[in-house]
Amino acid sequence: MNILVLGGAGYIGSHFVKAALLEKHQVIVVDNLQTGHKESLPKEAVFCQGDIKNKAFLTSVFQKHAIDACVHFAANSLVGESVEQPLKYFENNVYGTMVLLDVMNQFHVKQIVFSSSAAVYGSHQVMPITEDYPTNPTSPYGESKLMMEKMMKWADIAYGIKYVSLRYFNVAGAWEDGSIGEDHRPETHLIPIVLQVPLKKRPHVTIFGSDYQTKDGTCIRDYIHVVDLASAHLKALAYLEKQHMSLTVNLGSQSGYSNLEILEAARNITNLEIPSMIGQRRPGDPDKLIASNTLAKELLDWTPQLDIFDIIQSAWRFHKAHPKGYGVE
Ligand code: UDP
Repeated sequence: MNILVLGGAGYIGSHFVKAALLEKHQVIVVDNLQTGHKESLPKEAVFCQGDIKNKAFLTSVFQKHAIDACVHFAANSLVGESVEQPLKYFENNVYGTMVLLDVMNQFHVKQIVFSSSAAVYGSHQVMPITEDYPTNPTSPYGESKLMMEKMMKWADIAYGIKYVSLRYFNVAGAWEDGSIGEDHRPETHLIPIVLQVPLKKRPHVTIFGSDYQTKDGTCIRDYIHVVDLASAHLKALAYLEKQHMSLTVNLGSQSGYSNLEILEAARNITNLEIPSMIGQRRPGDPDKLIASNTLAKELLDWTPQLDIFDIIQSAWRFHKAHPKGYGVE
């Protein structure tokens, strides 16, 4: 299959590209390299640098390559930044997706798998979260993902473009050999930040809040290995090929770890000291987010194969191999 991967040089996109090439698909990557890294792409992937909001550019890519399906990762994804700059999120995430759907329709490409997020749900008390929970995003980022989902729904009704919307919970980890991994600038996510301490890139980690309604007072999240996530996208493409039906599913492990548990696991895996302190709560953080993954099991035949140990260990391997991130060894 000829797969067009939008945002394929990003953290999750690059893991998907590698997994898709291993399954012998042809991969064409579009990325504006605003946050992605060209170094994360294998040479077998065709690379087209450009922005999905640029319709003429995107049209030229579809003209040059016979695309069978799209996998769409291209988006801004920082919750805090989205609160400060909401319009950036609506422009890049929502308008960008609109242009993509328009060009897909023009070229009769009828299949798309795309990144949604647990952020569409907002805060809920009862875990695990199933896909029929009300959606009430607490940030422009979550809102932009929900708007993308809604746009997909109407594009399906009007143009027959079938989609699988994958609502990711907390994605972490790296390719098993540490060749590619997470390199966000600035980094905001817990696991890479915790690992920056033993790498001597920061003196300690600050845990944001210890007065949440959880067993140890710190937030609980559901972590999913980026390699498991990549394989879910391949299963989603297979689902579209076979079922010709749209679908929205959670991707998570259905188990939760507190921030202190993550810290402790990282200390055990690195076997190094990781000093920490408790700081203020970060605005907008729900106490607990755990996915129900029953639907993904049933409909996509997908179950996570890797646990929190594999997640932190692979991330550690990547960070040790690339202490300064991509581009600088
Ligand atoms: N967190 C933290 N210190 C940090 C970064 C994150 O305590 O330096 C916490 C954050 O408040 C949340 C959890 O770690 O409770 C996971 O945050 P992350 O940004 O990794 O993912 P999110 O859940 O926001 O998608």
